[in-house]
Amino acid sequence: MSEEANPFESLQSQIDDAAAYLDVGDDVIERLKHPERVLETNLTVELDDGSLGRFKAFRSQFNGDRGPYKGGIRYHPNVTRDEVKALSGWMTYKTAIVDIPLGGGKGGIIVDPSQYSEAELERITRAFAAELTPMIGVDKDIPAPDVNTGQREMNWIKDTYETIEDTTEPGVITGKALDSGGSEGRVEATGRSTVIAAREAFDYLGRDIADATVAVQGYGNAGWISAKLVEELGATVVAVSDSSGAVYNEAGLDARDVKAFKNETGSVSGYADADEELTNDELLTLDVDLLIPAALENAIDAELAADVKADVISEAANGPITPGGDEVLAGKDVVVIPDILANAGGVTVSYFEWVQNRQRFYWTEEKVNAELEAIIGDAFDALTGAYEEHDLENFRTAAYVVSIQRVVDAFEEAGTFP
Ligand code: GLU
Repeated sequence: MSEEANPFESLQSQIDDAAAYLDVGDDVIERLKHPERVLETNLTVELDDGSLGRFKAFRSQFNGDRGPYKGGIRYHPNVTRDEVKALSGWMTYKTAIVDIPLGGGKGGIIVDPSQYSEAELERITRAFAAELTPMIGVDKDIPAPDVNTGQREMNWIKDTYETIEDTTEPGVITGKALDSGGSEGRVEATGRSTVIAAREAFDYLGRDIADATVAVQGYGNAGWISAKLVEELGATVVAVSDSSGAVYNEAGLDARDVKAFKNETGSVSGYADADEELTNDELLTLDVDLLIPAALENAIDAELAADVKADVISEAANGPITPGGDEVLAGKDVVVIPDILANAGGVTVSYFEWVQNRQRFYWTEEKVNAELEAIIGDAFDALTGAYEEHDLENFRTAAYVVSIQRVVDAFEEAGTFP
């Protein structure tokens, strides 16, 4: 990885690429390239040894034209203000392409969670939740999990909010455990949409995903579930990786077995049923039919893209391909299903969770998955419709053409205040 693209600049260039095909004024487009507001706060938290820790945290509310701000909270040492702003923008266009009545937001804390005890993480999380309480709410801004956060953190945030506000309001946050008001199917949703979108792309190309070889970069929630579900469709997962490296087996790995190994040892490296160990870059440039980047931003830049041999890429991660990488891949006719559609299953089932919380009436997993399937299918059709209508260079620009127009329509119908 040679080019360290700034994700916020990547977002803005993606918007510019699509704006060229839209009949929307530059002033309106400019508005859609910046967050409405960003909270930056320094959390002071007592550590287990009695000393005080300071943790910088952000929440970016990018756009609320289509509904309450929506998006996860990540814990990572490399979180930056610009990264959070970019991620909140991607959420805006993600909720728009799948046409759910939500806006876009994102949060992050600069912290390496592996360095802190569970009790410390709970205090850090509750400190952030207390800072967020005035700005979030079931009709205002609804956080969710992201990198290195999950049900446990969501349950703490819900409890902190409900305690401060003296209410019960499970819909203030999504991605909760089932007993705390979570939804069936939420944990698997990001991987599920990544695979549904890939299957749709193979259909679109007149190919069968059951015949595909697959490589998955990243074996956290999104990566491992994608591997499991694509395997269930009959595809052969030949390689998977995590931050420790990659493992490869030409005949196919067993996704569940690799996950069990990672649970036991902490990484995929050293997995016994592999022919070879590879680097992450070697995995990304394998000659496979489908590549699923499921880690962080900027995994594939222009230089690496030149060596990519996959036919289809389904982005489980947010922002894994830089704008330079996109250009190279388009030139090689690699079909990239953009993050804002491919991984939109997470926020879509978050939306279902929020609907269930509001109604205090819960759905079966079958219903969740059927509704998700329909939404991703419709979004894929809207994307390919725009792709063909405007004869576009790639699917990403098509997704932005559709989603920017939806945000603009809501903005223009509402008018400006004051
Ligand atoms: N963090 C996930 C994403 O990037 C899910 C967001 C949500 O459920 O609100 O889409």
